[in-house]
Amino acid sequence: MNQDQRNQLKQLPGVDRVIVHGSAGGHFDAIPKSVLIPAIRWAIDRLRETVLHAATPLDAAAFSLDALVEAATRRADRIMAPRLQRTVNATGVVVHTNLGRSLLSPAVLDRLKLISSRYSNLEFDLEKGRRGSRYSAVEDILCELSGARAAMVVNNNAAAVLLCLDTLAKGVEVIVSRGELVEIGGAFRIPDVMAKSGAILKEVGTTNRTHPRDYESAIGEATGMLLKAHTSNYSIVGFTASVALPDLVAIGRRHDLPVMEDLGSGTLVDFSKYGLIKEPTVQESLAAGVDVVTFSGDKLLGGPQAGIILGGPAHIDRIKANPLTRALRIDKMTLAALEATLQLYRDEQDALQHIPTLRMLTLPPSLIQARAAELKTRLEGIGGDRLKVELMDLSSKAGGGSLPLLNLESRCLGVTLAGKSANAMESWLRHHTPPIIGRIESDRFIMDPRTLQEEELDIIEKAFADMLAEETGTQEK
Ligand SMILES: *Cc1c(COP(=O)(O)O)cnc(C)c1O
Repeated sequence: MNQDQRNQLKQLPGVDRVIVHGSAGGHFDAIPKSVLIPAIRWAIDRLRETVLHAATPLDAAAFSLDALVEAATRRADRIMAPRLQRTVNATGVVVHTNLGRSLLSPAVLDRLKLISSRYSNLEFDLEKGRRGSRYSAVEDILCELSGARAAMVVNNNAAAVLLCLDTLAKGVEVIVSRGELVEIGGAFRIPDVMAKSGAILKEVGTTNRTHPRDYESAIGEATGMLLKAHTSNYSIVGFTASVALPDLVAIGRRHDLPVMEDLGSGTLVDFSKYGLIKEPTVQESLAAGVDVVTFSGDKLLGGPQAGIILGGPAHIDRIKANPLTRALRIDKMTLAALEATLQLYRDEQDALQHIPTLRMLTLPPSLIQARAAELKTRLEGIGGDRLKVELMDLSSKAGGGSLPLLNLESRCLGVTLAGKSANAMESWLRHHTPPIIGRIESDRFIMDPRTLQEEELDIIEKAFADMLAEETGTQEK
């Protein structure tokens, strides 16, 4: 340490002086003490570090109380900002697991808000005036919509699969095709879940081909269940064969074995009616005679995170009686949102219009084109010559481990900015508040209008304006 540094360190004010100065200016009014003091200490410490590492003495302005108040305030704001932030999804992946999967519609939110801010009959039977079951909120409507005879719901589909296996297949062999030993993001793997539940995995067939005779010849004394897992996030193409659910059900019937299906994304709407690839529906699985079927609430269903279990009363009653159920139970906010989402399905057109996931998946190309064109015009308006925006025919994805082969035609914006790489642009927008998440392709920052919400064109326009202003600022310096 040299003499200059020693002198400068002596000028560092104490925490108290910064508090007095900042409070007098009203700068700390909205900052709790518990945050303020560490924030001021941090600002002073950082200044001390700067002094120690500086080659020449710092400018006197750096030591002003104003500068420290400002640094402490910024630090406090950062500490207090919520970590979970609303994010703009410009990726075109509709059910984006990393970005929160499905969005809830206003009607669903109203119900969620009412039920969670007031007491409810969550587990109270209003008819009988005594304890009731929390599942009764959605049991009837799930049966009505799907054709199931009984239903229950848990925290998510991983929990649903675990619970069903634990109840119906503990200690017995469960036969699964090698082509269906799926791993879903977040480390859900059929073999691992099975091991956890105490079921014994018996693989049959090969990766690309499994035949009815493979199941038949594997069935023995120890067999307790046949399981079909929907290969929701990949597809095996080429020389392939798998046993369709109705055939698997027939095998199960012949040997008196229950057949379970993990549908994963589980849709109540037949997407092929709307020009998309056929995804097996929940109704079809039940009509095929499956004993138990499970699927997610927040993938193609478009509701809150939940795991839905449908089947016959004998199996569902056993599942409800499993003590694990208590650990996997669905909470009241989710239940309220799930019930409200399911009610929209009574009229399919209502569902397509009001459930954001369904609306985005079936968005007319003309609407995407119009939105892309508008955003292009707006960005060019602020960007001048430096910002180049091209419209590109690229595809969106359903995501969330659903419709893996589906390429939804889309019209995307490819942005290039003179003096800033696509990577730098991507990073800048990711650090923006709110973060804007896109992708990079052919050295362009790509935004897909399919997954943008109403007010988000404004957000993007403003973010680009800020980014350009900052760029211009740095270039002038
Ligand atoms: C997504 C998925 C799961 C896990 O569902 P979560 O709701 O995320 O717990 C399980 N199985 C399959 C086939 C899936 O696609």
